[in-house]
Amino acid sequence: SSLDALKREAAEISISNVNVSYGAYHALKNVNLEIKPGEFFAFLGPSGCGKTTLLRLIAGFNTAQTGSVVIGGRNVLTLPPWRRDVGMVFQSYALWPHMTVWKNVTFGLEERRLSAQERNQRAEDALKLVGLEKLADRKPSQLSGGQQQRVALARTIAVRPTVLLLDEPLSNLDASLRVQVRREILAMQRRLGLTTIFVTHDQEEANTVCDRIAVMSEGMVQQVGTPMELYDNPANLFVGRFLGTANTVSGEIRANGSERVFQAVGGEVLPAPANEEPGPAKLFFRPQNASLVTKSEVASGSDLRLSARISGREFLGSTIRYALKTGGEDIFIDVPHIGKRNGFSEDDVVGVQISPSDASIFR
Ligand code: ATP
Repeated sequence: SSLDALKREAAEISISNVNVSYGAYHALKNVNLEIKPGEFFAFLGPSGCGKTTLLRLIAGFNTAQTGSVVIGGRNVLTLPPWRRDVGMVFQSYALWPHMTVWKNVTFGLEERRLSAQERNQRAEDALKLVGLEKLADRKPSQLSGGQQQRVALARTIAVRPTVLLLDEPLSNLDASLRVQVRREILAMQRRLGLTTIFVTHDQEEANTVCDRIAVMSEGMVQQVGTPMELYDNPANLFVGRFLGTANTVSGEIRANGSERVFQAVGGEVLPAPANEEPGPAKLFFRPQNASLVTKSEVASGSDLRLSARISGREFLGSTIRYALKTGGEDIFIDVPHIGKRNGFSEDDVVGVQISPSDASIFR
């Protein structure tokens, strides 16, 4: 069946210079974001960073002290939620318990000036889209958590919003269902081509379904990018650590004539980019972007070399994750597990070899 009853032209969202305060608390600090038409976008960050505040601002449930929110060319900040053409699915689903699935989906359409035929067509298409057409006569209490979630989605989609907002939609589902439902949400989003924003504190969830992510912390957008861009080229330590296992080695940048070196706490001196200002710094790299060599092996080419002692290892099947101490710090190195080679043992002193292009200096 075609989904023409549910489809609309995808809208772009443009957020400029937004500041939101709750009394003296500054919850959003000068937020700027451009979300493309049809994009599946995530707001990702730890609890309290302002994700929900930003989502509710777009939906119309919060006000801003400064800035603008433009959806499909229209500045919506002064419009009430029901005039914004925005559909929001809440963490709690907020279904009406005394109404059937069918009634939950059609109820929101009744107050609109639609023919009965149009209402029924939209409800049918929306329930089909989420695979619930056979359960239309049930009450929410007769459905599983995942099914209730899909009713909430169908109800929102049936209104035919230009933008879909999802506030931690998977958090009430158990782990195995979460993976399935996130795939279903992605498939639905692609079929409708609907601009969608997904709020989550789970980086795996954001990485697997979203085209681009805004990483937030303390009311600020720290970085915007595709999952791979953020993982491979984090703009700062916060993003680097939030997106996956991160190694950091503390030290300082020192001037050595016109050259710069990174002096690690514990003594080692490594070449550093010439444009780095002297001062405290951290060397950053991922566990799979370094290799282990025996102490006597010569460093190859321009690679950085730290000396470290192995403090433990975990066998993960395709890789072995070594825990090491370098200076005072714990780092992790992933080594592919090939054949029956045994590798290094606890207390071995080894070299950690890092290609400069896979490492960053953060301040
Ligand atoms: P979570 O993942 O826990 O939902 P979040 O990133 O969505 O967190 P928000 O709900 O946007 O965070 O809250 C951002 C900050 O603003 C928090 O420190 C919160 O305590 C504060 N805050 C939220 N709503 C209000 C309010 N109505 N009055 C005062 N402070 C609030």
